[in-house]
Amino acid sequence: MKKFINHPEDVVEEMLQGLAVLSPNLARLAGHKVMFRADADAVRDHQIALISGGGSGHEPAHAGYIGSGMLSAAVVGEVFTSPDSDSILAAIRAVAGKPGALLIVKNYTGDRLNFGLAAEMARSEGIPVEMIIVDDDIALDGGASATGARGLAGTVFVHKLVGGAAAEGKTLSVVAAIGRAAVKSLATMGVSLSAGISPTVGKPSFELGEDEMELGLGIHGEPGVTRTRLQSADQLTETLLTALFKRENFGEARRVAVMINNLGATTEMELAIVARHAVSFLERNKFIVERIYAGTFLSSLDMAGISISLLGLNDDRLRWLDAPTSALAWPNVPQPRCGIAEMQITPKLTAPRISAARQHVQTETGRTTKRAITAACEALIAAETELTELDRIVGDGDLGTSMKRAASAVKDALDTYPLDDICATLKALGHTFRHELGGSSGPLYGVLFLRVGNVLESIGWKGISHWARAIEEGSRAVSELGGAKPGDRTMIDALQPFVASLRAAAPNSARREALLAAVQAAQHGAESTAQMMARLGRSSYLRDRVLGHPDPGAIALATWLRAVSEVLVDAATPV
Ligand code: ADP
Ligand code: MG
Repeated sequence: MKKFINHPEDVVEEMLQGLAVLSPNLARLAGHKVMFRADADAVRDHQIALISGGGSGHEPAHAGYIGSGMLSAAVVGEVFTSPDSDSILAAIRAVAGKPGALLIVKNYTGDRLNFGLAAEMARSEGIPVEMIIVDDDIALDGGASATGARGLAGTVFVHKLVGGAAAEGKTLSVVAAIGRAAVKSLATMGVSLSAGISPTVGKPSFELGEDEMELGLGIHGEPGVTRTRLQSADQLTETLLTALFKRENFGEARRVAVMINNLGATTEMELAIVARHAVSFLERNKFIVERIYAGTFLSSLDMAGISISLLGLNDDRLRWLDAPTSALAWPNVPQPRCGIAEMQITPKLTAPRISAARQHVQTETGRTTKRAITAACEALIAAETELTELDRIVGDGDLGTSMKRAASAVKDALDTYPLDDICATLKALGHTFRHELGGSSGPLYGVLFLRVGNVLESIGWKGISHWARAIEEGSRAVSELGGAKPGDRTMIDALQPFVASLRAAAPNSARREALLAAVQAAQHGAESTAQMMARLGRSSYLRDRVLGHPDPGAIALATWLRAVSEVLVDAATPV
């Protein structure tokens, strides 16, 4: 286990100390694992207090939901362990006034018992207390068992609704009824790709194969209901939503709020992908998606998983969802959601486009150019794995896929290039590379091809010496743009030797020999980068850790130069 902790037994205490530092609006109740609204005294007699909590490991739940318009206090236990009733009672005493307190409790035996006992003790002290149990999980047929369904991320919706209602000054029994009714229109289901690791246990609570996922799981590291083959994001979204639909209690109007919840280690990118399909699938199934939220609402340590919650809406609930809150973990984005199509904005200024029309190749030069470019693309596509590996060692690992993407795009666009006109074709190549390659190489290749095309246009493209000069100018353009010199461990270290070798070839030496020698020099130059320290690009961050591995950009350049040259040595064109 690797975690940013000090001692496993101190994580909860130290987290609470950190939360107090991070959130000036929160106060810590001395002697208890309780956080509460710093302005509790000012509001205690004006609205009912709302208290939730449970084991730790679900951050930002529950302390993140403390604030005006949401919770008054959160009581936390050790990781995945229910808090004790004394702490809960202390929290009630700290924040409840005459209007009383509502406890929002996720349906777990330990939580029910401890919160239930604390409520009883508080009532015996004269504090009005009610409790609502959230059991939004639909994976287990909870209704059939005595323990019932578990409380999951949908609990955060309940916090928001009762928070909004309480802030309007509604009484304890009214707010409790609002909360109980909401729980009936709430359903959640989760899925996981890998389990979280508890700091005190030190290893994952269950193991999953590379192609497996666990469906219908809880938030305490327990395995789910079924283990199935991995599904794509869209399939999975449909699997979860279809299971949720079966509840059929979202109201006649089918107005819903959706929560895509990160169970701990899922990226925002994946959440957005799921959110996007959730909206279209729900709309296809005649739901009205009034609100959708994606983020980390209620996690399960570092589980790589998500849950989807659906809440049936009416106008009141929508108002409470949108009501302002100072709670840090609630996303205050109450704009009406718009459909995917409505969210696409067409830019007013579009760049001039290269003609997409098919061009007919008429000359031998055009045919040779086509063969040479095709060979270069195929060589780059074939080198994907090698380039990926190299860039993984010394960079960020994207060069193989980027080159393959750009090479495939060139192959696709090839028939639209003016192949009979080499100079125009080089410029078109530059355009495709600029557009498709990205990273650092994209603009560098863009400028290289543009400059070579322009120079050949002005000096004429027939003859090796013209090409040598044009490529030298191109190499200079790359240096001007990127600041690299020979020896800096970049593509220049393959390009420069290629040019030097071409220039050195006697003006009357055979094209074949000149090209093959130049390719050899490029290859040699690329390999020699293994001995160079990087001054530029991402590799520079690794200092001497790059030594022994050649620069991927230089290897890529030597790779396609060789492929092009091998076509040209035998071609019957004046290049
Ligand atoms: P990124 O580092 O942005 O992911 P790429 O993966 O697209 O970049 O390209 C990495 C390659 O780009 C390097 O291996 C190197 O050959 C080349 N490169 C990086 N910076 C420069 C530069 N300033 N000048 C010339 N080539 C460079
Ligand atoms: Mg890279």
